[in-house]
Amino acid sequence: MKELSMIRPKIYPGEIDMSYLGAVMRMNGLRNEESTIALMVQSAGVSKWTRRTAPVIELLSEVAGVPMEPFVHQHSTLGFRRAITANQLPIPHGAVENRVLLSSHGMRRTRNAAYFCVDCVIADQSELDRSYWRREHQIPGLYWCPKHRVDLRCTDSDHAFLKSPSDFIDSTATMEGDWVAESRSSKPVMRFLDICSALIDAKSPFMASRISDALARRATAAGYRSHFINLLGARVKEKELLSSLIHSTFPQAWLTREFPEFRKRRVGQIVGGIDGFSWFAGIDSSAICALVASVLFPSADA
Ligand SMILES: [Zn+2]
Repeated sequence: MKELSMIRPKIYPGEIDMSYLGAVMRMNGLRNEESTIALMVQSAGVSKWTRRTAPVIELLSEVAGVPMEPFVHQHSTLGFRRAITANQLPIPHGAVENRVLLSSHGMRRTRNAAYFCVDCVIADQSELDRSYWRREHQIPGLYWCPKHRVDLRCTDSDHAFLKSPSDFIDSTATMEGDWVAESRSSKPVMRFLDICSALIDAKSPFMASRISDALARRATAAGYRSHFINLLGARVKEKELLSSLIHSTFPQAWLTREFPEFRKRRVGQIVGGIDGFSWFAGIDSSAICALVASVLFPSADA
């Protein structure tokens, strides 16, 4: 197949993959994701393309001129979402041996909405040729910009990442109430975010069995029930439940927004997924794991 020329925008530090896809789309005068993928496929000279033979994230790394593994390490949230692996060898995030996983999970979201910082957007507009969505701002539980110390804004508009974040300044508002300031001064929240940042930056996943053992040992030593089997039919005291510790440790507004399972929790009630070891069902269990680790360990390093 004849190679097609296309405009290849510069990818910016920490730009999330979908934001770059949007830049490729807009700069090439296209209107949607499908036509942008079609252009990248043609430009790469791939015949009989399927998402499994050349995952979209791999096409993007080719357009950006950044090899796959560094592209995934710097521009994808896969490192966070696949931080813990139960049934795969811990091969690096972005390794092309893992195309099946890259095609299905390569570019999924970490949050229900798209988050941005107005000050970052304004700085982009004066220093760069476009504003962009940052991967860092999509970490669950983060509601302020670590650089500018202002509240993040968010939009649940469809395909928001494909547009420029500057398009959403007028239609979004800052978070209501003072719960963001309260979360920002909470040490447990900061510990949770430090763990999430370490996971998103990790180059390979951790084996679920090792994480599970480390947390179980820590939980048991501190007097908490850590195995679901020990909870079934047992008379469990509130003080033996990790969910109770989490409930009393984190600011309520932050906790119930981020983990809705805590909205209706009553004293002594077991929270599925936290009070038994079902945290590590595989991909996308990272946030729960980080939450549990942040109450059992004094720091992200530990
Ligand atoms: Zn900012």
